[in-house]
Amino acid sequence: MSEIFKINEIFYSLQGEGFYTGVPSVFIRFAGCNLHCPFCDTQHQSGQQMTVEDICRTVSNFPARHIVLTGGEPSLQVTSQLTEALHKMGKYICIETNGTHPLPDGIDWITLSPKDIFIKSPAARPILKACDELKVVFTGNMPSCDGLDIKAKYHYLQPCDTGNTAETQKLTRLAVSYCLAHPEWSLSLQTHKYLSIP
Ligand code: SF4
Repeated sequence: MSEIFKINEIFYSLQGEGFYTGVPSVFIRFAGCNLHCPFCDTQHQSGQQMTVEDICRTVSNFPARHIVLTGGEPSLQVTSQLTEALHKMGKYICIETNGTHPLPDGIDWITLSPKDIFIKSPAARPILKACDELKVVFTGNMPSCDGLDIKAKYHYLQPCDTGNTAETQKLTRLAVSYCLAHPEWSLSLQTHKYLSIP
């Protein structure tokens, strides 16, 4: 029997952030999240019920191989039934997660963005200890980044979009300085916002 997922939206755009910046991708945005980050700018609460078949049919409308499972927090819903179905279509599956829940088999690329730097609750602490790229939202609090115990191939520092242009520009300049002084970190920008694309 096909599982049911609550999906906020499925859309086609360029990946705006991190390692795969610029890569055409189909984004599957899962509804809901277990955290409440103060800077969360994603409208992810609403959603419609979709089966694996519904999702695959929608995904097949777009030509890209790259799939990005995002949210909200996709790990609360994604299953191996869905990853298997997407793999059968020849897709490459990336996930953007806060790392607080286990992932099913079949994820090809893990982007982990820990939120326990901002939310001092055990519920925000990542249980995932390895990922492909670690993406830290930079709010000016760098010392805690050095203490992260998560293995990653790539480390990205992404200035927080505070909603205040001057403040965001200041954070971006500080993040640039941090990366120059700590070259194991690279800068990630939310390029889709600069381009005014989804
Ligand atoms: S983990 Fe992500 S989606 Fe969830 S509240 Fe934080 S920023 Fe928003």
